[in-house]
Amino acid sequence: MEISVTLTGNPKTKPADASALGFGKIFTDHMFLMEYNKDEGWHNARIVPYGDLSISPASTVLHYGAEVFEGMKAYRRPDGEIQLFRPRDNFKRMNDSAERLCLPQLDGEFCLEALKKLINIDRDWVPTAEGASLYIRPFLFGNDPFLGVHTVNRCVFCIILSPSGSYYKEGVNPVKIMIETQDVRAVRGGTGYAKCGGNYAASMRAGEKAEQKGYAQVLWLDGVERKYVEEVGSMNVMFKINGTVVTPKLTGSVLPGITRRSCIALLKEWGVPVEERLVSVEELEQAVKNNTLDEAWGCGTAAVVSPIGELCVEDVPYVVNGGKIGPVTQKLYDELTGIQWGKKPDPFGWTETVK
Ligand SMILES: *Cc1c(COP(=O)(O)O)cnc(C)c1O
Repeated sequence: MEISVTLTGNPKTKPADASALGFGKIFTDHMFLMEYNKDEGWHNARIVPYGDLSISPASTVLHYGAEVFEGMKAYRRPDGEIQLFRPRDNFKRMNDSAERLCLPQLDGEFCLEALKKLINIDRDWVPTAEGASLYIRPFLFGNDPFLGVHTVNRCVFCIILSPSGSYYKEGVNPVKIMIETQDVRAVRGGTGYAKCGGNYAASMRAGEKAEQKGYAQVLWLDGVERKYVEEVGSMNVMFKINGTVVTPKLTGSVLPGITRRSCIALLKEWGVPVEERLVSVEELEQAVKNNTLDEAWGCGTAAVVSPIGELCVEDVPYVVNGGKIGPVTQKLYDELTGIQWGKKPDPFGWTETVK
């Protein structure tokens, strides 16, 4: 499919101070759009000036939450080139998410080509400041203009780009997290493994409660027994217990993170034992009491690796590794950010230059 290009006649001023960018607040000059309907399939692929979308007030997405998305980044290398990190994995996951919500499949290679074309047009928006990157948000939503509850016939796929500052403004500091025992994020058979807006809508209340109590993130438990740890905020979670890294297995209610997958590959490469299995709160409590909970961290595209300094279970605080970042957490952070920003060799072939 041809991708038509309409350039803006009115380019925006790029922010001078990348450290003040924050996250997801400003957008580049252009976006990618295409539409789908059952008769024509995907069509009208185009790069156009960034701007508002016009949709029917009856649009499926507004009433029934038919939406899936991805989150990835473009990184500025020291040599000035721009690269992506495992982008095919994102489009593959987007199709898995779309399948769960009965939204149409996308051609991953075509999406990657469209993304590269878009980034090339907005190249100068990719920040050069330390830890800054161009955040990429592909999303897909159902857009039938009627209220009947039915799988969708019409869809929109869009990619927007947002230059974002470093996640860590004051260095990589461990955060306090609260185990959520009331609300659940996802249940077996639900949409936990899909990256869909609805999961986020359901997670806001617990996030707000944690924030009010002075915690940075919520540690989610499984929706059936409320016994096993699943994720932390919108990141996957890992614990180093007695020398072994344990992480919740992908039971269907856990999002299959690309950072998680990359951490597991690196740990295996380094000869650190890794187990993907159920991890109960009780096991964590015991490990804290026995002094065997060496380290804990969250991992995801936004933060890369986020050390956990304190776990709060029903108002009882448990300090992890003296509230400091541990050596494995630090090594994963250094290695992953090194590969992503092109400062370290990429033996796994995870990165892809945008030319
Ligand atoms: C996106 C996401 C993650 C992290 O996935 P990455 O591919 O590593 O960015 C983890 N949990 C949830 C709920 C997510 O939405």
